[in-house]
Amino acid sequence: DPRIDGIQSRIRVVPNFPKPGIMFQDITTVLLDPRAFKDTIDLFVERYKSKNITVVAGIEARGFIFGPPIALAIGAKFVPLRKPKKLPGKVIREEYDLEYGSDCLEMHVGAVESEERALVVDDLIATGGTLCAAMNLLERAGAEVVECACVIEIPDLKGRDRLNGKPLFVLVESQ
Ligand code: 5GP
Repeated sequence: DPRIDGIQSRIRVVPNFPKPGIMFQDITTVLLDPRAFKDTIDLFVERYKSKNITVVAGIEARGFIFGPPIALAIGAKFVPLRKPKKLPGKVIREEYDLEYGSDCLEMHVGAVESEERALVVDDLIATGGTLCAAMNLLERAGAEVVECACVIEIPDLKGRDRLNGKPLFVLVESQ
């Protein structure tokens, strides 16, 4: 698809951010180009508009940028999966390991009902730990995770292999 090259060209790679040795994939530069931003959303909407998705779950923080426009366009609700202690209501939580230490995602109880069909959205998959925790939250609520969708995959980290066989759709691979 010719739109992919335009999106790829707008991703800014920032060496040594936030730590030495990391090549940070910055999507804020995609957002500065209305064409590339729209193409990003459109590619996801084209894929998911006829899949009977009832809930788009976006992962804090950059899943909050791409998730809501997809949800609106496909007629699904949007549910934020947040870092600890941000959501005011009763939550379920999933902890997951990072390179150093651990992190956690929370989801409001009652936001997702059993039998719902969920799409999980984030900007990027690295090790896959974050998407795995997100899927666990949705499945604990009784939803079926139809697919995970990210703008960027870092293939060397093999995060895809950590998703317990769930399909992952990405637009570009990190350069
Ligand atoms: P994982 O859990 O797959 O190792 O890491 C993915 C999470 O870390 C995502 O929520 C993503 O936003 C964030 N992340 C890790 N590295 C990068 C990066 O280079 N660029 C961006 N935009 N996000 C990253």
